[in-house]
Amino acid sequence: MEPLQFAAEVLDLHGAVVEPEGVDDRGGGGNGGGALGSFHALLPERLAAQLGWEEEIRLTAPEAGSSGARGIGHGAPEAGSSEARGIGYGSADLEKLLELLRGEASVVRLRAELPWPRTRNLAPEVSGAFRFRTKVRMTYLETRASHAGYLIAYYTLRATSEDTHESLVTAVINESTLAPVAELAQQFEDRSWLVARAQGGTTAGVHVPKGTCATLHREGTRAATRRLEPFVRRLERRRRRDAERLHRYYEAMAREVCDRKGRGRARAPATIEEKTKAIGIEYERKIRDLDHRYAVRITLRPVVLLRVDLPVLRGSYHLQWRRAERALSFVWNPLLHALEPMACDDCGRGDREMTIDERLRVRCPACAGEESRRRRSASGAHDQSSIR
Ligand SMILES: [Zn+2]
Repeated sequence: MEPLQFAAEVLDLHGAVVEPEGVDDRGGGGNGGGALGSFHALLPERLAAQLGWEEEIRLTAPEAGSSGARGIGHGAPEAGSSEARGIGYGSADLEKLLELLRGEASVVRLRAELPWPRTRNLAPEVSGAFRFRTKVRMTYLETRASHAGYLIAYYTLRATSEDTHESLVTAVINESTLAPVAELAQQFEDRSWLVARAQGGTTAGVHVPKGTCATLHREGTRAATRRLEPFVRRLERRRRRDAERLHRYYEAMAREVCDRKGRGRARAPATIEEKTKAIGIEYERKIRDLDHRYAVRITLRPVVLLRVDLPVLRGSYHLQWRRAERALSFVWNPLLHALEPMACDDCGRGDREMTIDERLRVRCPACAGEESRRRRSASGAHDQSSIR
């Protein structure tokens, strides 16, 4: 999500009336930036006071603003006109909004006004959507119309190195199954059908268990890693190019030292050796500098947490293996018109191909594969010793 869009949503969640401009001619339509160049907003008095802003403001992307200055507000507002706020990465006004969210440590609670999905047997869909490798007995119990809570965390991601990357990252998990449901992030960008549970958006006393928070942050970290992939690749390419350049340079230098010997200028072999050694040391120092210069420092800061309640369908299975028993539920999401992925009990990743072992742990192929590989190598060692 773009900072401008994000700012509009934050204000919206805090009770402001926010409307995109440029739909009519008011915005001038001249800002060729994104689809939405600016927003017009009316802030409740309390919010305006909190932010130190006018009650009537315009939000623009910094490039779209007339001054073009990055990160700086547009000076004192003229009387009568609505104040324009440049919202971009690192801009003072965006920081203010983030500060507002942090100050409240708010969990914004929303509820979707969606019709209840019609109850039907989910078993055929489950067996079509998921693949289980299991000896466990799975008995389908029932389908129920039910509610599910989703936690959506917005993070600011900042990575600095030779270059800087800044963006907003989202993570979404189902609170009860703890499965990541990344596709929902997009659905939640359209808030028109969501209603705030508590007026003004703030809710004191919403408790999110530690384990749930950890799962959410783990998902946030994964999303950040995915987001940074191109950035990191670009840096690696540049680092490699610089390293090659250094290598060529110092190699040529060392060659020159050796060549002088051949051209008859008498030089003791000890001196040559000393010189090439010095060149080698210098080369290694330069490479270390390079490593330092291209090291990536990453900060991922949670700025807002939404909790959205949706009506869903829940199908449940009873799992049994010898004396072990467990209930396993599947959630059919009306916004995705599909079953949500299951969470791996080990790594938390969501998947559709799962292994259920004798202890009834549900695991993704990667985690299950890892364990069976470990077990195989252990048993392999055992086999060998029994042959002798
Ligand atoms: Zn896993």
